[in-house]
Amino acid sequence: MKKGLLIIVSGPSGVGKGTVREYYMKDPSLNLTYSISMTTRAPREGERDGVDYIFISRDEFEQKIKEGEFLEWAEFVGNYYGTSIKQVEKLREEGKNVVLEIEVQGATIVKEKCPDAISIFIIPPSMEELEKRIRGRRSEPEEIIQQRLAKASQELKLVGNYKYVVCNDDPELAAEVIGLIIKRNQN
Ligand code: 5GP
Repeated sequence: MKKGLLIIVSGPSGVGKGTVREYYMKDPSLNLTYSISMTTRAPREGERDGVDYIFISRDEFEQKIKEGEFLEWAEFVGNYYGTSIKQVEKLREEGKNVVLEIEVQGATIVKEKCPDAISIFIIPPSMEELEKRIRGRRSEPEEIIQQRLAKASQELKLVGNYKYVVCNDDPELAAEVIGLIIKRNQN
């Protein structure tokens, strides 16, 4: 069986990566599966353990780093986030195209380790719109919002490291573009 593709999707916090994903994951012809990351961040309202993330403690995470369990990991606004190497390899061996929704440091590591990975960066239509979306989530204190906005400005400078850049003005359209990118790379 042909090994599945590895698809990196990055973009600043609040850009709507999750909403866009809901659309492109619905297309069965893309044969996609989402890699569920591990994090030490507390769950947001409505987030489910084992679905949105695998929520673990800092001690557990640090133990997994020592044991070499991560394909990549990064610290983002005070929390750890990481991708299980075993999980990704298992899914790709089963022929699934695996989506990693990760921030820029993690993406750099994956691109070094897996040069054939497809990299996509989602940008917001404007910084004003991004701030509106981050605030709209109403789940975080002002200090964290400010940190996420500062991080977003830094991340946006790195779009040049990605092969594809997609603007999320309309999530359904952005998802269609991502679908086309994946199809082009499938053959
Ligand atoms: P959030 O706290 O908003 O869910 O995620 C913060 C950032 O971490 C987002 O850019 C998200 O894509 C990224 N992220 C989620 N999982 C991982 C992961 O496993 N590794 C890395 N490097 N970043 C991740």
